[in-house]
Amino acid sequence: MLSSQKIEEILEYIKESSPGQDEFYQATQEVLYSLKPLLDSDKRYLEQNILDRIVVPERTIIFRINWIDDAGKIQTNVGYRVQFNSAIGPYKGGLRFHPSVNLGIVKFLGFEQIFKNSLTGLQIGGAKGGSNFNPKGKSDNEIMKFCQAFMSELYKHIGKHKDVPAGDIGVGAREIGFLFGQYKKLTGEFEGVLTGKGLNWGGSKARKEATGYGSVYFAENFLNVYEKTLKGKRCAVSGSGNVAIYTIEKLYELGAIPISCSDSRGTIYHKDGINLKALKAIKEIHHASLEEYATVDCECTYIPVAHYPKGGHAVWHLACDVAFPSATQNELTVIDAQKLKENGCILINEGANMPTTAEALEFIRESEMLFSPGKAANAGGVATSQLEMSQNASMAQWSFKEVDMKLQTIMKNIFTTAYNTSKEFGLEGDLVTGANIAGFRKVADSMIEQGAV
Ligand code: NAP
Repeated sequence: MLSSQKIEEILEYIKESSPGQDEFYQATQEVLYSLKPLLDSDKRYLEQNILDRIVVPERTIIFRINWIDDAGKIQTNVGYRVQFNSAIGPYKGGLRFHPSVNLGIVKFLGFEQIFKNSLTGLQIGGAKGGSNFNPKGKSDNEIMKFCQAFMSELYKHIGKHKDVPAGDIGVGAREIGFLFGQYKKLTGEFEGVLTGKGLNWGGSKARKEATGYGSVYFAENFLNVYEKTLKGKRCAVSGSGNVAIYTIEKLYELGAIPISCSDSRGTIYHKDGINLKALKAIKEIHHASLEEYATVDCECTYIPVAHYPKGGHAVWHLACDVAFPSATQNELTVIDAQKLKENGCILINEGANMPTTAEALEFIRESEMLFSPGKAANAGGVATSQLEMSQNASMAQWSFKEVDMKLQTIMKNIFTTAYNTSKEFGLEGDLVTGANIAGFRKVADSMIEQGAV
């Protein structure tokens, strides 16, 4: 069978068997098409039905979560853990708490995670989980009650050699603490079953910073190929959570000027550079809206969502040299991509997972803009999670500098692997192809070696 025929067949199967799971379809479509050069050059992958196997999770767990709110009422949410692929190591991937979470979102994230984890060069399989629980507006007590109820089911399915979840949107240090506490209570084990832990109880230095820092290291590596650097570059950043904040921090360290950040309600444009101290206070301490930023520092413009360009996002309509989408999926549309190109942007570096729509990606790949796919550019978080697991296993705690040095090496290696793979298949600089093929090949070879399990 021809590879293109097989790819069409699998995509058709996904459409029929996973109705309404648009993000999952989008992610599989992007990966499968980009694998064509590999599938044509090595027949083993089709002969061994790797495509049929890799798009189906090894296990999907869906569960009810009942918890009691501050008014004493019973609330109900849905929890998910999709253990997608364990060919190269125990399942690893974050938990997302956001009202938009559904099975399709968790499957897309879990699918991407397989290849991302493989690209890190570490032994970690792919998984993702979460809940449609909305942490916004909840008291600390309600967050704790929810996390305890969530873990009361999840603990049966995870373990330090089995599945090690971490944070994602809506799950930061506070939530990981409550989840870990409940796991310990239920199992009686103090073990490295979660990453992103507090520094006093098994966490790794630089884990909090790792995804944002790693994303910037990746961009710098990419620009260096073209004898450019981030120094002096005006950078548009979206989001104002964990990834965005530490992207902004590292951009300043490398001499760039981060000019924006955003949340679900609006965008801040700050021509002279985002006030990082104010941003951290608003988001990490007060957990407030970015509207507050404009009152702290008046040299900026606040653009509410209602004033965004039609079919687009305000951040990508600001003139910039490099774009760092770091909030959520499908936040950069084709209209935005066209605007970035028009304004002279040279690189789009994905800090978030799949922030670029399929249509925008098609436009970008045909333009002269450079593009770093999230599964490569944002892999620094999961790589440092694995470093946390190594420290837990040896009862050690490395210094911030040591972890950061390892992170820089890992990001350089991920970039080189993706870049060299793109070259190997005659598509030099096409990191979508390079990252997908390099990530896939290692997992697929391991699946073949382990037989039909
Ligand atoms: P976070 O700390 O919860 O921050 C998320 C940010 O994105 C917030 O500013 C949030 O605004 C905004 N946002 C979320 N959903 C949105 C929506 N539907 N529309 C507009 N804005 C939205 O999460 P994070 O850890 O930074 O994650 C950001 C992205 O990076 C996600 O795609 C995640 O999967 C990816 N990622 C994270 C890590 C990690 O280590 N944390 C690793 C790899 C990839 P509000 O606060 O107003 O909701």
